Amino acid sequence: MKRLFGTFGVRRKANLVLTPELASKLATAFGSLVKRRVAVGGDTRTTTPMLKHAVISGLLSSGCDVIDLGILPTPAVQFAVRNYYDGGIIITASHNPPYDNGIKFVDTDGIGIPDEMEEKIENIYFSENFDRISWDQIGEVESNSNIIEEYIENVIARIDQKSIREAKLKVIVDCGNGAACFTTPYLLRRLGCEVTTLNCQPDGFFPGRNPEPTKDNLKDLINAVKTIGADLGIAHDGDADRTICIDEMGNFVFGDKTFALVEKNLLIENGGGLIVTTVATSSAIYDIASEHGGKVIATKVGDLVVARELKNRNGLFGGEENGGLIFPDFVYGRDAALATAKIVEIMSREKKPLSHLIRELPIYHSQKRKVECPDGRKIEIMDKITDVTRDYKVDTKDGVKIFTEEGWVIIRPSGTEPIFRCFAEAKNEEDVEKMVEWGVSLILEQLNI
Ligand code: MG
Repeated sequence: MKRLFGTFGVRRKANLVLTPELASKLATAFGSLVKRRVAVGGDTRTTTPMLKHAVISGLLSSGCDVIDLGILPTPAVQFAVRNYYDGGIIITASHNPPYDNGIKFVDTDGIGIPDEMEEKIENIYFSENFDRISWDQIGEVESNSNIIEEYIENVIARIDQKSIREAKLKVIVDCGNGAACFTTPYLLRRLGCEVTTLNCQPDGFFPGRNPEPTKDNLKDLINAVKTIGADLGIAHDGDADRTICIDEMGNFVFGDKTFALVEKNLLIENGGGLIVTTVATSSAIYDIASEHGGKVIATKVGDLVVARELKNRNGLFGGEENGGLIFPDFVYGRDAALATAKIVEIMSREKKPLSHLIRELPIYHSQKRKVECPDGRKIEIMDKITDVTRDYKVDTKDGVKIFTEEGWVIIRPSGTEPIFRCFAEAKNEEDVEKMVEWGVSLILEQLNI
């Protein structure tokens, strides 16, 4: 049983639980296994430099050479590792609040390390069985400040620049003061978009908004899109692996809609292909695949699971309902920059506003709720819910997904917070409301027994 790692790395309150000592020991444990050239990068958090230096010390102590990539998006580090290095460590707490930070470990192909390696790191950490080297074998630290440029260039090389240049789209970019400040505004300007920036000064206090790109946190962006009359609003989370869109009317576009839009275009472009997503994603993904020669595989929730499945099965494209899109021929993980460029490309080629493109997709309504539940009760509650729903058609790959005539509802414990998540989807708003309320009531009933 893993004791430190969550769904992607270790994420804790910075300098309270995630101290430089913990960071350094974890990096030494990782370095003890890798022993070669490891790239290190991080987000804009105030505690990132502190933790990064601790991580570098640990890596050197275990016999690695270190390449410091500076402040950059998580997928840019994954891109760098895949192309040049033997492993990577990213200092980031993604969309968590400013006081948190985290460490993500990346394997040589740029994908988050597998469970077995996480367990090995924990074993080394808890047994203090570090493989430290002697003074005369200590490696070197160098920096590589070219990765951001290469990453942007690589995104541009993968899309139809001419159409985008001709469309002259007005885009407002809200980087939430996170790592995307160094990429998205530059990428879009280079593509010929007219870019207005919001919260695009890197700042670890996140003064502009909470780093999670939810509808509530994007009110300023929504207002700006309406006031300026922009074609598109783009928002990212703290480490710039997720992209959320606001359409030209100021509507918040759910992540599964952009996922479906990009899926449709990639399937048409490639004449079909394998799509990987999680059990919590919209049925629209399946509808589009069957219409355009694609096949869908559903995995447990988590971007790492999706990325690994894409790699193992040589998939075309994958993603999650939260705006995390994975282009496996580029980065084995969610990528916000290529996702942004693809959306702009589709709008430019089709010469249609985003709201029209979204309306052309299969229509489903969805609702998400959270129910608080102490971590210690999650297994018991989940077992009870599985038990009371056993007469329905269910999928128990992750939590329980219950299918009814109206649609489906999935109930699963969060891997990172003391909550249950409940997502529902149906063909109309009334049904989805009923489905999600039913899901919440199932959780509450078991909690109160
Ligand atoms: Mg993230």
